Amino acid sequence: MPSKSTANLGVIGIAPYEPEANEEYMNDEQRAHFRSILEGWKKQLMEEVDRTVHHMKDDAANFPDPVDRAAQEEEFSLELRTRDRERKLIRKIEKTLTKLNETDEYGYCEACGIEIGIRRLEARPTADLCVDCKSLQEIKERQFNH
Ligand SMILES: [Zn+2]
Repeated sequence: MPSKSTANLGVIGIAPYEPEANEEYMNDEQRAHFRSILEGWKKQLMEEVDRTVHHMKDDAANFPDPVDRAAQEEEFSLELRTRDRERKLIRKIEKTLTKLNETDEYGYCEACGIEIGIRRLEARPTADLCVDCKSLQEIKERQFNH
C-alpha cells in the first residue's frame, strides 16, 4: 500500500494521467504513460538491488566481536530477503512491459476481460486483475491457506 503522502503520485512519483472526457481506454498516450511508469519503476528497483549488493560487499567487514558479527549476519539475511522480493517484482514488471509492448491486453483483467481502470493501474501498474477478480482471488487464497 502506498503511503498517504505519495498515493496521488503513483509508485514512482509520476503525476497521474488525466484522461480527456470520452478518451479511448488504453490509447497510445495512456500506454506510453504506463510504459514510462513501469520502466522508471524497474530502473529504480534495479538501482536498489545494486546498492544492496555493493553495501553488502563493502560491509562484509570483519567484526572480531561475535555479537557484532551476528548482528551483521542478521542484517544481511534481511537484505537478501528484500533483494529477493525486489527481483520478483522486477520480473513481474518485465512481464507486464512485454504484455504492454507486444499485446493489446495490458489494462484488461486476465480473468474476466473488463477494463482494470486507469486509477487502479496508477496505484498498481502491474495489476492484471480487476478489483472484483482480485478480491475473489484473495478470498480463495485465504480459504486455501487455512
Ligand atoms: Zn476481472
